[in-house]
Amino acid sequence: MHPLELPFSRSRHDRAAHRRAEPDLVARSLAAPTTRVLVLHRGRVAVVDPEAPRAALVGPGAAPDGLGLFLGEHDGAALLAVVVPDGDEDPAPPPGSDAWAGLRDVAGAQLAALESGDEAAELAHGLAVEAVALAGWHATHPVCAVCGTPTQVGQAGWERRCPVDERRTYPRTDPAVIMAVVDDADRLLLGHAARWPAGRYSTLAGFVEAGEALEDTVRREVAEESGVLVGSGAGDVVYRGSQAWPFPASLMLGFRARAVDTRVRTDDEEITDARWFTRDELSDAVTRGEVGLPGRASIARALIEEWFGAELPGAW
Ligand SMILES: [Zn+2]
Repeated sequence: MHPLELPFSRSRHDRAAHRRAEPDLVARSLAAPTTRVLVLHRGRVAVVDPEAPRAALVGPGAAPDGLGLFLGEHDGAALLAVVVPDGDEDPAPPPGSDAWAGLRDVAGAQLAALESGDEAAELAHGLAVEAVALAGWHATHPVCAVCGTPTQVGQAGWERRCPVDERRTYPRTDPAVIMAVVDDADRLLLGHAARWPAGRYSTLAGFVEAGEALEDTVRREVAEESGVLVGSGAGDVVYRGSQAWPFPASLMLGFRARAVDTRVRTDDEEITDARWFTRDELSDAVTRGEVGLPGRASIARALIEEWFGAELPGAW
């Protein structure tokens, strides 16, 4: 099996982590005319073309005041994010951009550009994923977790430091597993969550708990949500790929899992229905509009289509 093609795990730039300790790296980069800046506000990025939004990379002269973050380098140019502080009103998008857009909106419209080999779009998209994740961490970690003192930004945006006890914290990523569960008849298990509109189905997923190995999370989440038991033998849980999902801080780890007991007993709280689909059943249900599948930017979609062996119509 080839690795999954995942839109949120594409990037073209070098994070250049070795440079983050350089003194005044953000300020010096903002003074260099070759630097390119991604501008963010409230988790959204400045984009060009609101009809088919793509993250905008503007020159340093167009960057507003805000929290500067070093994202890396590309072709010798520094790449920054600037996060505009929250105010009462939305600021105007910076010169060289047209609007603000959420990352999922950008991802949807940007897939076509990625597929057509548009390197500039792919560069901007990878930077946007990194910037939204990093900015989200800063927004939710303003104080020291031990003593409550407001923390200071260091390492060009890659750490926060408590001035009282010197405690350092680093951007958090929360691992979550998501799995295509398949039985020995090659049917796929999909679930319907209580919070979703009728007809929406996707692969099961859940967060890794403290002290838990990924394979155990896969087995536990499938059993909790659907009652189906996944095997614990060699090859019963196989890693397929990952992508960042910074809504707000997840890393989605995709697996294929083999069911050894296919009886469905949903928990009726988080998951209210779980069903086994043959390829024909899923294709028919999607074509008739009875089942809606997750969006094309998601790893769930990639796992489902990998099992199906082709693209499927429809998405929510
Ligand atoms: Zn402290």
